Amino acid sequence: MTVASLKDVLGPAMADHYAVAGLVVLGWEDARAYVDAAEETQLPLILQAGPGCRKHMPVPLLGKMFRYLAEQASVPVVCHIDHARSVVECQEGIDNGFNSVMIDGSMLPLDENIALTQKVVNLAKRHGISVEGEIGIVGYSGGAASARTPPQDASIFERETGIDALAISVGNLHLQTEQKAVIDMTALRAIEAVTAVPLVLHGGSGIPTATRQFLASSSRVKKFNIGTELRMAFGTALRTLLANQPEEYDRINILRATIPASRSVAASVMRELASCKPDKGVIDGAPNLLPY
Ligand SMILES: [Zn+2]
Repeated sequence: MTVASLKDVLGPAMADHYAVAGLVVLGWEDARAYVDAAEETQLPLILQAGPGCRKHMPVPLLGKMFRYLAEQASVPVVCHIDHARSVVECQEGIDNGFNSVMIDGSMLPLDENIALTQKVVNLAKRHGISVEGEIGIVGYSGGAASARTPPQDASIFERETGIDALAISVGNLHLQTEQKAVIDMTALRAIEAVTAVPLVLHGGSGIPTATRQFLASSSRVKKFNIGTELRMAFGTALRTLLANQPEEYDRINILRATIPASRSVAASVMRELASCKPDKGVIDGAPNLLPY
């Protein structure tokens, strides 16, 4: 049984200069594929259920599914609720087997975000559960705008809430289908200078591979949320199957055909983020380690 908390997987990542993938789950096939990828790479994994997934599938079922997969795995797997907006949503996740929650109060004024996050931390600590908070707004490609994370707010937020990981906005953007995000290293270093917890970048799909590798090895960004490129792999595999086998109507055969593509992209993302992990060796083109 290797259900791990966020703290369990991000602590070693801090010590050994690598980052952990937070992969967005939308159903059984991709969740299965991600855990297979974790087994294949022998790397820790954060399985995430976001708002869309929780709306589509009841949280009690998701919790059972996540726990089942984590308990079968030989590597650490975190069962994480992504973008909860209320204490009730976090409580529902905790009651149903999730052992890590992200409380997203990023749209609130700082004092209200702190108050909301404190409530979730108090609840979570009683159950030994990790909490990720957010300061600054990570916008959406073609949607809501971003607001950069003010370093001083991040410092106050970290101190007042006691969160285990902090999501920040430094040029990252949700739902990008191309790797065109430009990460503001000056802003990131300013946040690193006044905080101590592992940092999280949402919108990881839009961050160029080389930048992800650089940040994983030489910054305190220890968790990258990845959803869009996995959805693209799933969608492409599904379309190919349907085009090539127009007489296939069996739901299981259709969806099962997406697993290899999801697994392959997940494994490749996980390897990238761990390319400087000592026991994984340095892959070609990975940047040298920089002190921080
Ligand atoms: Zn997000």
